[in-house]
Amino acid sequence: MQNYQVLLYYQYAEIKDPVQFAKEHLEFCRSLNLKGRILVGEEGINGTLSGLIEDTNKYMEVMNDNPLFKDMIFKVDMADNHAFKKMFVRPRKEIVSLNLEDDINPLELTGAYLSAKEFKDAILDDNTVVIDARNDYEFDLGHFRGAVRPDIKSFRELPQWIRDNKEEFMDKRVVTYCTGGIRCEKFSGWLVKEGFKDVGQLHGGIATYSRDEEVRGELWDGTMYVFDERISVPINHVEPTIVGRDWFDDTPCERYVNCANPFCNRQILTSEENEAKYLRGCSPECRSHEKNRYVKEHNLTHDEWEARLAVLNESLESVKA
Ligand SMILES: [Zn+2]
Repeated sequence: MQNYQVLLYYQYAEIKDPVQFAKEHLEFCRSLNLKGRILVGEEGINGTLSGLIEDTNKYMEVMNDNPLFKDMIFKVDMADNHAFKKMFVRPRKEIVSLNLEDDINPLELTGAYLSAKEFKDAILDDNTVVIDARNDYEFDLGHFRGAVRPDIKSFRELPQWIRDNKEEFMDKRVVTYCTGGIRCEKFSGWLVKEGFKDVGQLHGGIATYSRDEEVRGELWDGTMYVFDERISVPINHVEPTIVGRDWFDDTPCERYVNCANPFCNRQILTSEENEAKYLRGCSPECRSHEKNRYVKEHNLTHDEWEARLAVLNESLESVKA
């Protein structure tokens, strides 16, 4: 039974005292038995949380009653359970980290808002460049067909990457998208400030595109990465596909794990079989690392560890040498 809902939302709005607000908001969320993560800053609120249907409905009602958040749009998914273990409300300077030298206020400067249908048309237009404004591991699980995957390790590196590749996009229409729309509010504003003439953003993000009754997630390949225990959710309700590839053998895969070397911790897609075969290590070094978590969790003896590595033509010694 799907008795739970997962909410995703944000609002750029002036919050005078984020520390005090966060304190009171945490109490409010706890009173409704909600779990999740909310960031609060002088520039607004950015949250995702889960709870019973009646509790999450109450939350949305109370928030929309506040003049600051009366227009806030909630993206709602049904769920079997909570999608988070705890409830956090944290005061922050930025409610989404873009780390710009001059911060952008999206209430003053942002790209044109595109509806789902307008965005779909933009994807099909040859004169439009679609830039994914998320991290690489999010892109690898799913993305819009033909979208540009910036070669970056985190969203913070995006502005520099754009500057380095400016000639490719300058004369085209540029549209961007992200999970719920909040990252694009600043990023598209930054693109306008940077001199790009025709800049658009997918209003409400991929989450809204997926729910739109006309486009129904069309032209999205794979699933969407989400920052909760579900890890991924379906988007394309017309022709679902899998684009994720197993780190080890390149077969279709949508199962994310963290590399077992705690000093690496890289997110990799892999099957349960390959996780066991490769001791959840993304490289020979990570597989034979003395702190390998897979080896600890499964209480492998030194000999068992060596035996699994031998199958891969690796050994504990050869890596150390
Ligand atoms: Zn690794």
